[in-house]
Amino acid sequence: MKNYARIILKPKREASVLRRHPWIFSGGIVRVEGKPETGALVVVHSAGGEFLAWGHYSPHSQIRARLVSWDADETPDTPTFWRGRIQRAIAGRVPILSPTINACRLVHAESDGIPGLIVDRYAGTVVVQYLTAGTEARRELFTDLLWELLSPRSLYERSDADVRQKEGLASRVGLLRGVEPPGSVEIIENGLYFGIDVRQGHKSGFYLDQRENRQRLRDLVAGMACTGPSPDLLNAFAYTGGFAVYGLAGGVVSVVNVDTSADVLRQGRENLARNGFETASVEDIVGDAFAVLRDLRQAGRQFDVIVLDPPKFAFTQRDVQKAARGYKDINMQALHLLRPGGLLLTFSCSGAISADLFQKILFGAALDAGVEARIIGTLTQGRDHPVALTFPEGAYLKGLVVERAYHG
Ligand code: SAH
Repeated sequence: MKNYARIILKPKREASVLRRHPWIFSGGIVRVEGKPETGALVVVHSAGGEFLAWGHYSPHSQIRARLVSWDADETPDTPTFWRGRIQRAIAGRVPILSPTINACRLVHAESDGIPGLIVDRYAGTVVVQYLTAGTEARRELFTDLLWELLSPRSLYERSDADVRQKEGLASRVGLLRGVEPPGSVEIIENGLYFGIDVRQGHKSGFYLDQRENRQRLRDLVAGMACTGPSPDLLNAFAYTGGFAVYGLAGGVVSVVNVDTSADVLRQGRENLARNGFETASVEDIVGDAFAVLRDLRQAGRQFDVIVLDPPKFAFTQRDVQKAARGYKDINMQALHLLRPGGLLLTFSCSGAISADLFQKILFGAALDAGVEARIIGTLTQGRDHPVALTFPEGAYLKGLVVERAYHG
């Protein structure tokens, strides 16, 4: 251990490390002994000099170290160590994959004990994101291990997430191993087909975290279609039409998709065709959902089911108030657009907005809309995006199924 640089914490700052939280903030550090390279393995000590943990050093980030082991007797930086961590993460996803699901997140960073590493599988294509100094410094090792353990047709890198900037790292996108993936990688999810643009699509190409919520929508609309006239669907922040395809599979009679990007809506059309819905009644509106929802209301439109799945509004704690106003506004508009007895599936993927606050925002929206509504379900990120109990920040996606009362 003596060959490693040491991070010495301020007095009393060891508490979170002892609770196995994986982040060391720059403000908690008294000094760094030695000259660790960016991403190097370092040892974290308490102010009193006790060993606390091993971490990856990130000199440019407020999160100065990300912890990988709390065991003084191991050196957590051998290929065997990392192979074990990756194998454990992959093994946890085996129950998710099936003949009808061949896309899922295989490694979810901190929550899988590998800070800064995201690995998503899309059929034969595996997309990797090296998001921190620690994973960047080990890119060759991780690339070799993923290639060895997963033997994909293509191993593609999408290290272009915003967090790389905070780590002082430039974006990097491109093929790491294997053959160039096709422009659209076809996957199957709950028996439905989607084309994924792994080069330019959002995140690594698809919102895998919404898989179970898309299925929930399908089940809910199927239930509605069994007990009454087939519902219609407003899918705001539609991206490539995930919820639209599931809605149609569940039996909705028509869909209105709203997104600012014409390109993602065009890809959504291809996804409709992949599932035999090319002749379904689907209207695509390119525009800002904040304005489009108002326009739809002015036009007197109403819907039985509405999905609101906006991008992240709050990036830090400082954005929370403004973000809360944004969430309240779109949810108020959506509640106005909902027919009595209709269902709103509403989401926030902002980690800084707690589930509690999100529920309060919905309460405010319903009050201002003058609409009586109740929660009939709570939604969260898919189980391939687990949340380590030591790392509550890993829980970012929250959603509610809100039913508008039949009266009022
Ligand atoms: N529900 C989708 C994912 C939605 S991602 C799925 O399951 O796959 C959020 C989408 O909102 C992106 O496609 C983005 O282009 C779009 N978007 C961002 N800001 C917007 C705005 N102000 N109005 C409409 N769409 C917006």
